[in-house]
Amino acid sequence: MSRIAYVNGRYLPRAHACVDIEDRGFQFADGVYEVCQVQDGLLVDEARHLARLQRSLSELKIRMPMPENALRIVLRETIARNRVRNGIVYLQVTRGSARRDFPFPDAAVAPTLVVTARSANPEAVEQLAEQGIAVVTVPDIRWGRVDIKSVGLLPNVLAKQAARDRGAREAWLVDGAGEITEGASSNAWIVAQDGTLITRKVDHHILRGVTRTTLLDAVSALGLTLTERGFTVEEAHAAREAFVTSASQTVMPVVKIDGQPVGTGSPGPLTRALRRDFHRFAQST
Ligand code: PMP
Repeated sequence: MSRIAYVNGRYLPRAHACVDIEDRGFQFADGVYEVCQVQDGLLVDEARHLARLQRSLSELKIRMPMPENALRIVLRETIARNRVRNGIVYLQVTRGSARRDFPFPDAAVAPTLVVTARSANPEAVEQLAEQGIAVVTVPDIRWGRVDIKSVGLLPNVLAKQAARDRGAREAWLVDGAGEITEGASSNAWIVAQDGTLITRKVDHHILRGVTRTTLLDAVSALGLTLTERGFTVEEAHAAREAFVTSASQTVMPVVKIDGQPVGTGSPGPLTRALRRDFHRFAQST
């Protein structure tokens, strides 16, 4: 848990860190967020996370709460005050606080900015990656603009809980065409029997994961074969390997889909190699 949180200009102990009950993040999920990995005290792919934040905000016509350089300082200060060397830094920007009413409030209303940071145990994550995780497929019932990293995550919460209830760690969301869009909090990848990497192309129906983007750089530099297209649940069941990508887990092997083993039932060699090499292609600052 974050012991110190940055809230609208102040660093506060967790117990005193609050936002207003009229905050539009609370009332309408009218806000966006980012999660950035912290590794050995450095932020991983910060520039890409901040570029995505700018895009999410501009799509929703929410003002950037402060200049990017100042935000970079707040992220580092929050990491330092929470003594995080390995873990994540979380930031949320909402449209601010105003009397509850659907249309945007007066332009003078300042956006809300909250930043927290918490440690993770790198050994525990490594152990999980050694074993690989189970996923289950569930219908994708989200809205039509999930490319915006909004805090409106109720369908993701329900999918994740459904996964948990079925003994899995992640849910893969399936669209009306029977294709997997992405995970509840990760992008989904498979390695087909011919060795081709497959992950869904980006449009309004998936989040452009920063980890996905950096991994695409790695895939291209390593000369691997890749197709960006949707894949069906049946293709996933028949895959040689599978994995998910997200900032907090980088490349996480998937060894079971809907109770059926993927390939040999252990993390595959290509997945392991990509996990091992990932940070060579990421920018730590
Ligand atoms: N898709 C969804 C729905 C997510 O919530 C996340 C993680 N925030 C991702 C993909 C992965 O994105 P990133 O690699 O930027 O963490």
